[in-house]
Amino acid sequence: MRYLILSDIHANIEALEAVLAAAPREQFDRVVVLGDIVGYGADPNAVVERVRSLNPDAIIRGNHDKVAAGVESAEGFNQAARHAALWTLTSLTEENKDYLTSLPLGPLVVEDEIEICHGSPDDEDEYIFEHVDAVEALRAQAEPVCFFGHTHVAVVYWLSAAAFDIILPSPNDAETHLQIQTDRRYLINPGSIGQPRDGDPRAAYATYDSEAHELVLYRVPYNVAGAQEKITSAGLPEGLARRLGLGK
Ligand code: ZN
Repeated sequence: MRYLILSDIHANIEALEAVLAAAPREQFDRVVVLGDIVGYGADPNAVVERVRSLNPDAIIRGNHDKVAAGVESAEGFNQAARHAALWTLTSLTEENKDYLTSLPLGPLVVEDEIEICHGSPDDEDEYIFEHVDAVEALRAQAEPVCFFGHTHVAVVYWLSAAAFDIILPSPNDAETHLQIQTDRRYLINPGSIGQPRDGDPRAAYATYDSEAHELVLYRVPYNVAGAQEKITSAGLPEGLARRLGLGK
């Protein structure tokens, strides 16, 4: 199976379209979405509709989807995130809000050996930044390969009987190829499409061939200025526009 893995799109249609132009739906057997379809960006309806048009084979909710659809309160969000979530709640059509409300909570087993979650396999709201948390998640995941999002940082953690390691994509490369070893467990973050935070403003996504066991992490440039302008014209916090240019 050839997988296209999309995460943390955050209502950024410019970034999503750039990814889909580089990785057209028809080139993949399956599309999976790791949550946070909306929040922060200025195009929640266009993004939800574009995601629906892809007919994802597996899709789970993220913390921003819950708040933007009114499933959960914005308590615990910082000021900019809360502002954007409430703006999204009032901007979404009823149909798109219903779609977000219907998204299941992860983790979700996609096929034998592959599962997806938003934050961690144990908790959709948990951020995995520390090695100790990655090891805990690698032990908790039900399948040997788990894709996660939430941190907006592209990274691969792996664990074998004797070792643990972390692999970061090379900063200036457009592609990072990795052969998945069947005697290890992997916890993989494709990075964020719509609001990267690893210092690289290019949109991030991944593909995985589950037969060849080949993972590729990609970065693709997109019209950042266009997305920033829309954030500003919508009256959303200026910091949300600024960070897109920095990739932080
Ligand atoms: Zn997110």
